[in-house]
Amino acid sequence: MMATTSLLTRLPAGSEALNAALPSNGTRLAFLFATLGVIALFEAAFPLFDRAWGHRLRHMGRNLAITAIFLGLNLLLSPISPLATRISNEAQFGPSYWLRLAPAGQLAVGIIGLDLFAYFAHVTLHKFAWLWRFHRVHHSDNAVDVTTAFREHPGETLWRIGWHVAGVFIFGTPMWVLVVYLTLSAFNAQLEHANIRLPVGLDRWLRLLFVTPNMHKVHHSRHQPETDTNYANLLSIWDRLGRTYNRGPRFAELHYGLDGFDDQDKQSVGGLLKMPFMTSWGRQDTTTGDARQRPTASAMPSALTE
Ligand SMILES: [Zn+2]
Repeated sequence: MMATTSLLTRLPAGSEALNAALPSNGTRLAFLFATLGVIALFEAAFPLFDRAWGHRLRHMGRNLAITAIFLGLNLLLSPISPLATRISNEAQFGPSYWLRLAPAGQLAVGIIGLDLFAYFAHVTLHKFAWLWRFHRVHHSDNAVDVTTAFREHPGETLWRIGWHVAGVFIFGTPMWVLVVYLTLSAFNAQLEHANIRLPVGLDRWLRLLFVTPNMHKVHHSRHQPETDTNYANLLSIWDRLGRTYNRGPRFAELHYGLDGFDDQDKQSVGGLLKMPFMTSWGRQDTTTGDARQRPTASAMPSALTE
């Protein structure tokens, strides 16, 4: 971390102190587990959907095993983002350098830019058949809760990191902005998947700016036209601009998961890891007999969108 910090001395005033004060990976991991624990307590006290404890524990075990792989891969690749930061710094590339932005400006540009690239990464995971195969691991969870947040195949993680690193470079993101964004993003990922719902009034205000738990639940609907909406990560504006915004959900009609992926063997840790490579898995297309490759948004009813 110190080596990275010393390379950032050409940033506008204020950045050096912020870079020097960055928390360690261990501290960030501890924060992530602490928020997971607190959100799990809220889920137990105010569950959106009631589930038997036996089912919840088995579900949690599988998802946390995938989460451990996710965290391990992220830790392994964690030097790449600082490298992108270093390269953009040495090239004086990106809005933070061109405009000599103060820390508040760096933060705004960094969050907006990285979140836009996260939106692109997510949309492509749905629109390309070979990427959807990896993203099915996340969407095949039929009991979405806080442990779903990082239920992500390593192949999807690599794709997302690629977009993320590109964003870090293109927007000239300082290291401290990167850490703030990743912390906010991880926290909101846990919150939006949590088995809770916000009161309608609070949700209506929050979703003007942020992706809320209510808003993201639609994205996990088993109903395909709903799956292809509300892709945004932290800021809801991307779905509004990209015309993928959905006001829902109708909680009483909401069913999570993917048809053809509910069997125990597919939902085991081994099944989830090999899911992208199993061409025969999934709902059978009635016209061709082929397994469905990916959802399409063509049938999206206008009543679901603004
Ligand atoms: Zn998705």
